Amino acid sequence: MKPPPFDYVAAATLDEALEALADISVEARPLAGGQSFVPMLNFRLAEPERLVDLNGIEALSRVEETEDGGLLLGAMTRLSALERDPFIGRRIPLLAEAARFIAHPQIRSRGTVGGSVAHADPAAELPAVLLTLGARVRLTRRARDGESGSRVERTLDLGDFFLGPFFSALEPGELLTAIEVPPSAPREGTAFEEVARRRGDYALAGVAARVRLNSSGVCDDAAISLVNGGSTPCLMREAAQTLVGEKPTPEAIEAAAAACAETAEPAADMHATEEYRRHLIRVLTERVLWRAYHPRTAEHGLTADS
Ligand SMILES: Cc1cc2nc3c(=O)[nH]c(=O)nc-3n(C[C@H](O)[C@H](O)[C@H](O)COP(=O)(O)OP(=O)(O)OC[C@H]3O[C@@H](n4cnc5c(N)ncnc54)[C@H](O)[C@@H]3O)c2cc1C
Repeated sequence: MKPPPFDYVAAATLDEALEALADISVEARPLAGGQSFVPMLNFRLAEPERLVDLNGIEALSRVEETEDGGLLLGAMTRLSALERDPFIGRRIPLLAEAARFIAHPQIRSRGTVGGSVAHADPAAELPAVLLTLGARVRLTRRARDGESGSRVERTLDLGDFFLGPFFSALEPGELLTAIEVPPSAPREGTAFEEVARRRGDYALAGVAARVRLNSSGVCDDAAISLVNGGSTPCLMREAAQTLVGEKPTPEAIEAAAAACAETAEPAADMHATEEYRRHLIRVLTERVLWRAYHPRTAEHGLTADS
């Protein structure tokens, strides 16, 4: 239960961190809230030669409204801010709703949005929720010889970021610097639900949904994503598509939930069988769609008139 020896760099600026990560002859890894990474070090599941601590970089904790009314969450935004910051909660209520399900308050006060996304855990809530919201990630590295400027930045749809369990599109030397969350649209409703054995545990399964109605009360956009529904945080495109062009009837909701359960690829483990996880996915999908469509049972739901 002791980490292997490593060099420690306490970066004070983004450029210092990028510099410390840029030397590919040294295996360097960023340290954010440490809530996943420190246990990995202690169990020697990771043995980097250098830790680059991001906690002193103020610029990475900024939360800003984007020009289109969406949110730009700096990578070091604490998970607790999603839950407590009214600036975030008013703009994107689904973030506040789902954040309460992530671990315990102590862990949320240290864990960060960048760390949670970069960790690429299929059992984590935030990656799935951000997929539902259509979020994008900003990835930054130091420029190499021959490249102009001091930094190189690229932006990826989150759907292209998760490549496998605990495996993402991050390249060596690259930092996830921010997450862009599009604004909520008029007549849009969202909801999140999960089932865990105990409050604060990782979910056996969880579902996030976002639906939008046109002025005639017909769904014209929908997204559903799963926690623990596959080998990556996953967007259920086919199931969501069954809702588009339909009124939010019980039959349409049941059909989408059934499609979601059928096409999900949950694993079996010591906590739940694959079959039980599929059952949870179906039931939870029905619940979140119902809540996202109906305001009387959900704070953030909607009707055709809203
Ligand atoms: C007891 C316990 C229960 C938990 N339960 C849950 C749960 O129910 N749901 C859940 O979602 N999570 C849970 N977690 C994990 C927690 O949410 C972590 O905080 C989160 O997964 C990682 O965030 P972090 O900021 O602590 O990242 P760290 O642990 O510091 O880093 C995680 C990984 O991401 C990399 N990384 C971090 N930041 C960046 C960046 N900006 N750019 C590139 N790479 C980066 C690190 O190098 C490391 O590989 C739990 C943790 C514990 C200890």
